[in-house]
Amino acid sequence: MRDYFIAGNWKMFKTPTEGAAFVKELSETLKGTSQKVMVAPSFASLDAVGKALHGSSVLLGAQNMAAAEEGAHTGEVSPIMLKDLGVSVVILGHSERRAIYGETDELINTKVKLALKHGFEVILCVGETLEEREAGKVEEVVNQQLLSGLEGVTEEMLAKVVIAYEPVWAIGTGKTATPQDADSVHQVIRQTIGKTYSSATAEKLIIQYGGSVKPGNAKELMAMPNIDGALVGGASLKVEDFTAIVNFNR
Ligand code: PGA
Repeated sequence: MRDYFIAGNWKMFKTPTEGAAFVKELSETLKGTSQKVMVAPSFASLDAVGKALHGSSVLLGAQNMAAAEEGAHTGEVSPIMLKDLGVSVVILGHSERRAIYGETDELINTKVKLALKHGFEVILCVGETLEEREAGKVEEVVNQQLLSGLEGVTEEMLAKVVIAYEPVWAIGTGKTATPQDADSVHQVIRQTIGKTYSSATAEKLIIQYGGSVKPGNAKELMAMPNIDGALVGGASLKVEDFTAIVNFNR
């Protein structure tokens, strides 16, 4: 009933030239695929990749966005600029933004609301660290990030929000949450959305899993009832791997 959504997060990889060549090839290999697919290059590569995607159904995503529309914000990129570049999806609250760049739930919430105001689809990332998992705090941490990130977001606005559950300990480590472990957290997320908004909205919510998704594990993850797609880092950097993940059900 929910459509799968497979998103690639290139992080700080691929120059504009490399990114453009990559998506030209990807558009070819994905011809005839009906899956919803996105790639998120770095800001520097958005223009070149966006142009190379012309006529393709692959969506252009950004990995972050400023918390303001314009002004004295050295080094930041505004929603207006992203829109002008043809970006339609914005990833917010990625654990690397939280951990390395100190982004707080409050800042992420400001960005979420601003992105929605500008008509973007938002992928809001949540996930616990290994320490938090071992302390039995998975639900608490995930619900806290989820509800703070969505504060002030109406049920109507939520139609443009995708949640990505990315356990920090599984990102770039080769360790994947078992499909059952991931699904149980996805279920918690869906229940929280159900309680906060409505069960109809919770049923429609797309919840991606992220953390060492690769061709070899995509199918079993996607088979779980509450997993509706993937946010893929490392394996989104190779056309062959990313295509195999997109086509997991073929
Ligand atoms: P990974 O990254 O697939 O390399 O683990 C996922 C992410 O950080 O979005």
